[in-house]
Amino acid sequence: MPAATQSPVVLLAVEEDDSAAWAAELEAAAAEQGLDMRLVRPGEAAPEAVEHMVFAGSGPVRDFTPYVGLRAIHSIWAGVEKVLAIPTLPADVPLCRMVEPGLRWGMTEYVVGHVLRRHLGVDGFLAGPEARWAEPVPPLARDRRVGVLGLGELGADAARALSALNFDVAGWSRSPRSIPGVACHCGEDGLAALLSRSEILVCLLPATPLTENLLNAGRLALLPRGAAIVNAGRGELIDDSALLAALDAGRVGHATLDVFRIEPLPTDHPYRAHPRVTVTPHVASATRPATAAPEIVSQIVRFQAGEPLRHVVDRRLGY
Ligand code: NDP
Repeated sequence: MPAATQSPVVLLAVEEDDSAAWAAELEAAAAEQGLDMRLVRPGEAAPEAVEHMVFAGSGPVRDFTPYVGLRAIHSIWAGVEKVLAIPTLPADVPLCRMVEPGLRWGMTEYVVGHVLRRHLGVDGFLAGPEARWAEPVPPLARDRRVGVLGLGELGADAARALSALNFDVAGWSRSPRSIPGVACHCGEDGLAALLSRSEILVCLLPATPLTENLLNAGRLALLPRGAAIVNAGRGELIDDSALLAALDAGRVGHATLDVFRIEPLPTDHPYRAHPRVTVTPHVASATRPATAAPEIVSQIVRFQAGEPLRHVVDRRLGY
């Protein structure tokens, strides 16, 4: 690969509505970090001149073929399964997924909020005049066992926050992890151990061939009776029919679902009207230009300095 050019052309390939905010934050971050770059929108530079692409899967670039000079693709999404499915995605250009503090903070706030809602039994107090007066006092967080599937950038942060609130937290990942205050499991045996202890189960795994339908009927049956699920990873992680059957049978007490196989979730989907399902419209977190632009610029600065890019997707693993 030829040496980095002096003033790289950076293509902003995000949705039109977001473009102005991204441009302003990227320009500000570049000035802050001393990066001399030429930020362009589609049509403002020859495709072959583009070296870095700030990329949203829902943005204007659907075909990478003309971008023959690309050095790196900076996805503004953390989950890249749809990007990996683009047939013209160049195999030899690094694809970096999004890791940025705003995304992490937002996700941890969502997870903590929805775990506390289940833990405290908040819904029982929202029923109007007939609300139960004799609701039992909830246990202390230290007596509530929470499991977190996925201990990456988002899962590890959520697990740490739950642990800091005194929850009895365990987590599960592909490779062994060590997080203070979190009992870390991995592998198939580790999954069974984690599921069988999790009164509240948080899913923050990516969608990959290995995680598809991870929560199937057999694994859902390992959860303690009446367990709650909070899925903010991807819809593909859950076998929907198995979850609906488990909810109907009371084996799973409640599911808070932010992500679905089809989004927006069709209005006639059984999750919509289910009394023990809370649907949120893929809002658990979002990449914020103000906090993400400095991360993207720092990647380009690293590239210009000949340093390795961070958070490069492992195409074999799919995340
Ligand atoms: P990371 O890549 O940092 O972490 C992924 C975690 O999942 C890692 O701990 C990884 O294990 C684990 N994992 C992956 N495959 C397996 C497997 N087969 N078995 C066991 N563990 C596995 O991702 P992030 O934390 O940044 O993001 C996680 C997901 O959250 C994203 O992929 C995206 O789908 C979703 N997301 C949802 C949002 C929303 O608004 N709902 C917003 C942003 C992201 P290991 O540590 O060993 O690598």
